[in-house]
Amino acid sequence: MSDKIFLKIEGHDRETAVREIIGICLKCGVTICEVLPEDEYVLSRAKDSGEKIAVTTELCCLGKHGKKEYIHLKKQGKDDKQNMTDAVKLGFYYLFTELFGRSLPWGAQTGIRPALLASKRFEEMSLKETICSLEEDFSISHEKAELAAEVALNEAALLKKYPRRGISLYIGIPFCPTRCLYCSFVSLPLSKQKKNVEPYVDALIKEAEYVGELIKNEGETVDSIYIGGGTPTSLDEKQLEKLLAALEKALNTENIYEYTIEAGRADTITE
Ligand code: SF4
Repeated sequence: MSDKIFLKIEGHDRETAVREIIGICLKCGVTICEVLPEDEYVLSRAKDSGEKIAVTTELCCLGKHGKKEYIHLKKQGKDDKQNMTDAVKLGFYYLFTELFGRSLPWGAQTGIRPALLASKRFEEMSLKETICSLEEDFSISHEKAELAAEVALNEAALLKKYPRRGISLYIGIPFCPTRCLYCSFVSLPLSKQKKNVEPYVDALIKEAEYVGELIKNEGETVDSIYIGGGTPTSLDEKQLEKLLAALEKALNTENIYEYTIEAGRADTITE
């Protein structure tokens, strides 16, 4: 199979959701098309009729072909877009599991913070109900549903222990060695953007100085600094050192709860 599959969408605008679930299930990207080819394609069609959404998904690839109709009952507390997102992802996922005889540990859940799903449910449900609803709503395995619930409980305990006093700063480094298929973040591959990294760091330092000044003038304090991405460790040692030293100078970090730098790509980490 090539690294992209053709995708035709009808009756909805949840292209990103379908892209994500295809990326996770088939490990490929998509090319949007109006006319379906003979092979290597996905058709995702949906019709919203008030309380439910009728989804038709057709998949043809790797010598297999199948079509599935799925009726999604809208969930209260979710808007129409969120319901449509769930419906088209589940429609594809159910067809994929049927055709290929495989399921995925996180089911049709493609977001980056599954614990958030559990946190929201805890407001109205018991632990057991929360776990069951994650399994039912997204086809998440029991083990992963338990994990999401456990993380959500730990988060809640931490938030209680460290109540918000000041502001939380997020610093984005929008570069990665390569681009992962399922990624929904703003990130550019280093192979094409290396020349822009240094000017980006310099601009970031200027912004940190400005923000540091603003925080001081407003009498605010910093609770946490989170350097994410992309992959912050895409910066080389000198660039990272320069940035961290500038942050140290610009911000008062004495009383912060958390200082995190994401290092999610092993190929970017040095001693
Ligand atoms: S490493 Fe993370 S941010 Fe970078 S492309 Fe992969 S998923 Fe996206």
